[in-house]
Amino acid sequence: MTDFQRRRDHMVVAHIASRGVRDEHVLTAMRTVPRERFVAEGMAEFAYADSPLPIAEGQTISQPYIVAAMIEAAEVRPGDRVLEVGAGSGYAAAVIGQIADRVVAIERHDALGASAKRRIADLGYANVDIRIGDGTRGAPDEAPFDAILVAAGAPVVPEALKEQLAIGGRLVIPVGEERSQTLCKVIRRTESRYEESDLGAVRFVPLIGERAWAEDGSRAA
Ligand code: SAM
Repeated sequence: MTDFQRRRDHMVVAHIASRGVRDEHVLTAMRTVPRERFVAEGMAEFAYADSPLPIAEGQTISQPYIVAAMIEAAEVRPGDRVLEVGAGSGYAAAVIGQIADRVVAIERHDALGASAKRRIADLGYANVDIRIGDGTRGAPDEAPFDAILVAAGAPVVPEALKEQLAIGGRLVIPVGEERSQTLCKVIRRTESRYEESDLGAVRFVPLIGERAWAEDGSRAA
């Protein structure tokens, strides 16, 4: 067993399972994906601390516990088609790809998207498709999705994402008027409506796009 594998196992026990994540699919996926391959150069030794870490373009790779809790809340299952908005380093998309059949992950920064794409290819994760663009529009060409996860804080839930949920599909998205304190919502689409529940307070970088925040922090939508 490599040192990184040992640290990964410890991370899952000490920071994820111990804080209440029970979904075996999620725990196994978190034990499998090498987070050290997704952090910035020179940061590999911090890859298994339970904290977000800086990546390029002033963005972050999310805290492992948050990644696990959001995937658990999205009830990602084998056979699912999943959309992730805010691919960043590609780490969460890779974890989701260990469970789901197909993952489309969208990143708005070209440079981040390009390096995420490279990592995913190097690791041979053929079911994960990293795209560059404004994820607030979703990926209509691949909809509907069984689960949609948004990794950045939005002022409101973008309608396009709700519309791209399959019946029975789950959308997990941090939403809040304040840019720093955000309540993570879980929205489930039924035959006739959208049911909402809360996952708790989380802290995310802002979702920037046509149907989210503008670059200067004002509301674009
Ligand atoms: N899931 C990522 C990971 O595992 O590394 C962490 C993502 S980071 C917390 C949020 C990302 O969302 C940033 O890389 C940011 O550039 C991206 N982002 C913000 N608004 C976006 C949008 N409208 N469409 C796509 N990506 C967006």
